[in-house]
Amino acid sequence: MDVSIEKVVRTFGTTPALHGVSLEIEAGELVALLGPSGSGKTTLLRILAGLDVPTFGRVLFDGEDALKLTVQQRNVGLVFQSYALFRHMTVLDNIGFGLRVRPWSRRPSRKEISKRALELLDLVQLSGLEKRYPSQLSGGQRQRVAFARALAIEPRVLLLDEPFGALDAKVRRDLRRWLREIHDQTGHTTVFVTHDQEEALELADRVVVMSQGKIEQIGTPDEIYDSPNSPFVFSFIGESSVLPVRVDRGRVWLDEKPLDLSAGDVPNGPARLFLRPHDVDVVDSKPGAISGEVRVLRRHAGLRRVDVEVGSGRDRIEIELPADLSLNYAGKLAFLPRRYRLYPASQALES
Ligand code: ATP
Repeated sequence: MDVSIEKVVRTFGTTPALHGVSLEIEAGELVALLGPSGSGKTTLLRILAGLDVPTFGRVLFDGEDALKLTVQQRNVGLVFQSYALFRHMTVLDNIGFGLRVRPWSRRPSRKEISKRALELLDLVQLSGLEKRYPSQLSGGQRQRVAFARALAIEPRVLLLDEPFGALDAKVRRDLRRWLREIHDQTGHTTVFVTHDQEEALELADRVVVMSQGKIEQIGTPDEIYDSPNSPFVFSFIGESSVLPVRVDRGRVWLDEKPLDLSAGDVPNGPARLFLRPHDVDVVDSKPGAISGEVRVLRRHAGLRRVDVEVGSGRDRIEIELPADLSLNYAGKLAFLPRRYRLYPASQALES
């Protein structure tokens, strides 16, 4: 099912939580709403679910005005961070719940409900656990039951709010892969909320980066990571360092020194150079390179991380180097970023 969100505004009293958000989600897409706490992700998801209504704007499901539909009529599958399983029901009864409470005319027979619940249990790889109660399951297993329960109603859209938020890192990673596989098998249009950029980039077809009730950028994980369109997105996604510089006559200047970097179409004036630790090459000291003092050296998995203090502002830039490179603490280091983004200083870090 296609979902169309058009200029949605939501204010709580005088607090605007969403400022005119527009987003098109195609049938079968897996879209992540990613942003820091308070950016409006959950508010948007609740509006899609019918648990909240926008102050202005429209939401269309396959072209139909979804705001006129009740929660039941929307037929969305919901999974929240807290498993919200019924404690007194077995796994099988939990999964079949949404079908059992349907109006009589649309309710499948008991036998069919049980068959469907067992199929879903197989899909979420928990066959054999149908008679257990939620308290007899691990956190990851409970969350998989919650998924099966959401899928049982054959939802038009699946809405997930931090579904792995309460789980430890290893289980989260496993469930991420699992969710992607389930999605590829079932093809449900899926919107999931997360503040974990790694999760969003690994899992989603498209990532919607939100900040302060607005969409900052929409793109594939590659577009978001490789071409962030603002200082906010660059610093929110992945690791980065920032260096205050100046653009003058098409060149980038650090203090009084021109660097071997192109200013592109950034106008003259103060600017910020954003770079990622792994996009840096160490070079022989030469006039156009960035040079500085090595301040911290540390092992980082198979690599070495180095903090270099640069320029008159003594800004610290983190760079990643092969672990076998020999460096010493008080040494000097010259480098140039292979990839970088330059933004005018007037473009705020916060949106
Ligand atoms: P988190 O990751 O912390 O869940 P979020 O991005 O999901 O954050 P929302 O929960 O959508 O953000 O909140 C967006 C803004 O709206 C916040 O400033 C929040 O305080 C405010 N807000 C949300 N719900 C209400 C409410 N019921 N009453 C008043 N303000 C609210």
